[in-house]
Amino acid sequence: MARHPAVLIPGDGIGPEVTEAVVRILEAAGATIAWEEQPAGLAALEQTGEVLPSRTLDAISRTKLALKGPCTTPVGEGFSSVNVQLRKAFNLYAAVRPVRSLPGVETRFRDVDLVIIRENTEGLYSGVENEITPGVVMSMKVATTRGCERIARWAFNYARQRDRRRITVFHKANIMKLTDGLFIRCAREAHAEGYSDIAYEEAIIDAGCMRLVQDPGQFDMLLLENLYGDVVSDLCAGLVGGLGVVPGANIGDDGAIFEAVHGSAPDIAGKGLANPLALLMSAVMLLNYLVEQTGDEACRTAATRIKAAYDLALEQGEKTRDLGGQLSTNEFADAVIARL
Ligand code: ATP
Repeated sequence: MARHPAVLIPGDGIGPEVTEAVVRILEAAGATIAWEEQPAGLAALEQTGEVLPSRTLDAISRTKLALKGPCTTPVGEGFSSVNVQLRKAFNLYAAVRPVRSLPGVETRFRDVDLVIIRENTEGLYSGVENEITPGVVMSMKVATTRGCERIARWAFNYARQRDRRRITVFHKANIMKLTDGLFIRCAREAHAEGYSDIAYEEAIIDAGCMRLVQDPGQFDMLLLENLYGDVVSDLCAGLVGGLGVVPGANIGDDGAIFEAVHGSAPDIAGKGLANPLALLMSAVMLLNYLVEQTGDEACRTAATRIKAAYDLALEQGEKTRDLGGQLSTNEFADAVIARL
C-alpha cells in the first residue's frame, strides 16, 4: 500500500528530540507513513513571524492527520495558544488519553487501565477574558448543548467499540449549575439513548480526584469538560510513571492530531533527558487510527511491533531517567529499535 501522508510538527523544547526519536522508530518498524514536516510554536514564530503559519494549517487540511510535538506559545504577546487554535481550527473535539501501567515502571499502583475523554473545544478555553473594571477580571466558561451532546455520544461510542464497561463524569455542577449542569445532563441523555450496556456514574470532581489517587482501579473511562480533563490527565499521568508515559489523540469527525500530554519541558530540553515514549505511544495511536480509517495492515503490524518492543525494553530495565533508568532519548529509541 502507498504511504499515508501525515504532517509532522517537531514543536519546541524537547519536541524536536522526541519527534526525531519517534520517527526513527516508526521507520524501523515499517510504518507506511510519508511525513511532511511543518513548523508551529516558537520555532514557527522565528521562521515565519506566526506561531501557527498558514502553510502548516494548509498541510493539515490536506492530510487530515498530524503527529505533533509540544508547542510553546509566548505568554502576554497577544498570541493565542497553538494547541487550542489547532483543536478549534480542525474541530478536534475529543481528546483521548489512555493511562496504563507499564511493565518495569514501578509506581504506587499496578494494573491502572483508564481512558480519559476530554472535551477539547469549549469550557474555559473559550479565550474570552475581560477586565470589567481595574482589579476585577473575568473569564468566560462556555458550554453548548451541541458540544456537550457531541462529546458524550462520542465517549459512549468509544466505550462500546473498545469494550469498556463504565463511564464516570467528573463535574462541579453543584457550583456551576448551568455549564457543568448542561454537561452532565447531556451525558445522562446520551447514556439513556441506548447505551444501557455501559455503566454510567457521576462524581463531583474534588471527591472524584480523591478516589482516583486512593484507588484508580475503580474507574474505567472518565469523561470531563476541557479544563478538568487537562488537570486530571496530568494527575493520572502521575499514577503510572509521569508525563513521559501518557499519550494523547485529538480527534474530530474529519481528522486527528496525535500528541503527548506533556508540554515542551524547557528545563530538560536539548540535554537528551526527554522520554520519547509518550510521543511514541501517541504515534502508535496514530497508526491504529489509520488502521480504522484505511484498513492498512502494515500500520497494524507496525503498531503491534512497536508496542511489544517498548514493553520489552521497559521490562528489561531499558529506561530514561524520568523512569529511574539511565538512557538518553536516543539510547531509548535504539533500545526499542533493537527489540522490534
Ligand atoms: P506546558 O505548560 O506546556 O504544560 P510545562 O513545562 O509546564 O509545559 P511539561 O512540559 O508538561 O510542563 O512538563 C513538566 C515537567 O515534567 C517538565 O519540566 C519535565 O521535568 C517533566 N517532563 C515532561 N515531559 C517529559 C518527558 N517527555 N520526559 C521526561 N520528563 C518530562
